[in-house]
Amino acid sequence: MVNDTMFARGAESSVIREIFSYGLERKAQIGADKVFDYSLGNPSVPAPAAVRASIERSLQLPSDQLHGYTPAPGLPEVRTAVAESLNRRFGTSYGMGDVFMTVGAAASVSMTIHALTNPGEEVIVIAPYFPEYAVWIEKAGATCVEVLADQGTFQVDAQAVAAAITPRTAAVIIDSPNNPTGAVYTRETLDALAAVLSAANADRDEPIYLISDEPYREIVYGVEVPWVPSIYENTVVCYSYSKSLSLPGERVGWVLVPNTCPNASRVMPAIAGAARTLGFVCAPALFQRVVADCVDEPSDVAAYARNREVLTQALSSYGYTYVEPDGAFYLWVKALEDDAEAFCERAKRYELLPVPSNSFGVPGWFRLGYCIDYDVIVNSLPAWKQLADDYRR
Ligand code: PLP
Repeated sequence: MVNDTMFARGAESSVIREIFSYGLERKAQIGADKVFDYSLGNPSVPAPAAVRASIERSLQLPSDQLHGYTPAPGLPEVRTAVAESLNRRFGTSYGMGDVFMTVGAAASVSMTIHALTNPGEEVIVIAPYFPEYAVWIEKAGATCVEVLADQGTFQVDAQAVAAAITPRTAAVIIDSPNNPTGAVYTRETLDALAAVLSAANADRDEPIYLISDEPYREIVYGVEVPWVPSIYENTVVCYSYSKSLSLPGERVGWVLVPNTCPNASRVMPAIAGAARTLGFVCAPALFQRVVADCVDEPSDVAAYARNREVLTQALSSYGYTYVEPDGAFYLWVKALEDDAEAFCERAKRYELLPVPSNSFGVPGWFRLGYCIDYDVIVNSLPAWKQLADDYRR
């Protein structure tokens, strides 16, 4: 017999992937330039030249070094390079022992959830949220507790988190810059959240952990992304190079258990245990070396900034309302009817492919991934206008 949960997760199709596949079919039928696919978060900006240069250097290595297993937490020089880069940026004093290299943010977050929760415990997520969180929480035997973000700003509503905390709460997951809303949590928001968690910890033996999922940290438009461990000490940071260096298919990232986390000496072995239990073995050797070489490489956000500008200006002039996106490459827009799925079906008539908000745990909105070619955005604008006009008729 197959495992029922695994069967269910494998058999159900991801809404986002389904829309993407529909887009491919439609492009084959009517031409690629006539379909406006906003479904995926696949970076459209090329990886920096430094990535290729690093790969070419690594190719000179003997095969056993180039392709061999690395230690489970990663190559020491790579972990040191990551720690030193964080120290330069955030004035911290991390060492290689605080860094565990992973197979991207999906691995970082799923390992961290497994490391920090026991069956029957609860993990709070801020809705709308990245849908895989619920899958990983379920796999760890814990319960996913959805807490709505502030519906005006899409910042964390700290009082709503306070109301959702129970003696079984093990962790809270935050994701800033946020997928799907593009909101970047301010220092005030994080201070308020830290105050709520610290107050709850006063009555508990084990603290509530904050899992800070940050694959979009560098993709911001002129705002600060505060360093969360310096605001709340029981924070574990999950990161990946999928978005910042445009390497989503290469699967490389890290978990940081800061040496300032009071339980770091128990949390880090639990992270290692989760990686072992989940069968990750080690992060790809070649791309660990790329990380060491490119750790301070800036992300190229100019193209996303231009896309964001043209899209937001046009949509607001057609009467759409959206959350001002300070980061990531997503726009969170109010659907023109209550049923976001019905809205997205209607958008298909104009060859527009947004993702309905139901996939992210809330009704009434849709997400646009603007990490696509500028020309696709510009060519799609008349269709967005026609769709809005259609609703006014
Ligand atoms: N977390 C968030 C918020 C994401 O948006 C994504 C990918 O889109 C991931 C995690 C997974 O990233 P990765 O490709 O590095 O596993």
